[in-house]
Amino acid sequence: MLIDSHCHLDLPDFSHDLAHVVSKAQGVGVQRMHIPGTTRAGWERQIGIAKHYPCIDYSFGLHPFFLNEHWKCDLKTLENQFSSVHQACALGEIGLDKVCSVPWLEQVSAFERQLALAKELRLPVILHHRKTHDSIMASVKRIQFHYGGIVHGFSGSIEVAKAYIDRGFVLGIGGTITYDRAVKTRNTLRQLPLSTMVLETDSPDMPMKGLQGIRNEPVNIVHVADCLSELLNEDLLTIKNTTSNNYLRVLGLK
Ligand SMILES: [Zn+2]
Repeated sequence: MLIDSHCHLDLPDFSHDLAHVVSKAQGVGVQRMHIPGTTRAGWERQIGIAKHYPCIDYSFGLHPFFLNEHWKCDLKTLENQFSSVHQACALGEIGLDKVCSVPWLEQVSAFERQLALAKELRLPVILHHRKTHDSIMASVKRIQFHYGGIVHGFSGSIEVAKAYIDRGFVLGIGGTITYDRAVKTRNTLRQLPLSTMVLETDSPDMPMKGLQGIRNEPVNIVHVADCLSELLNEDLLTIKNTTSNNYLRVLGLK
């Protein structure tokens, strides 16, 4: 079994050939794909896609990069979304991003309010980070959030990884590790058990080594699995099955 725990199949990049993209992924053994929520407009598209494709899981959330002036209103809708649509298995993609143009205090406020909502709903979260591990952990502690989730696109030191794992999170492992320059992250992963990892492509972004400049797709998850197998010196079948089981466990799915 293979699972792509993070792919934005609701984006316009996939609107013309989604059926083909999904069947190609299934052809290499990808049994489930998770679409994380980013904007209010995206939530409806996610529900529509999941109705057509039983292999699709999804979460709802407001991504820090796309916070607009309506985010407080969207947050209210987000609450209702969870009470009316029960299939969402997590709250996300939420987090903090030092590179995006949304004012920092707005980001922190939106992030912490969504963490508090996830806590109230007893749901895991999908975390987005960019140069923000310390601030994210500070918010997780401030809100006393204990339901874990997935640290999407993990990169960082062993100390950072352990802080997340201690709080019930698993690490989303994607195309980053296919590059030799990702020395720190590759070293971190070598020191951790496979039970702390899930696989992801972040399609259409985060291209793998050798596939730069073209749209990333869930079918490419096999390259991440291969790379992790080599890195951890673990057989490929164990990589695929264990990371898939980790995904199901952390999101409370069967
Ligand atoms: Zn994402």
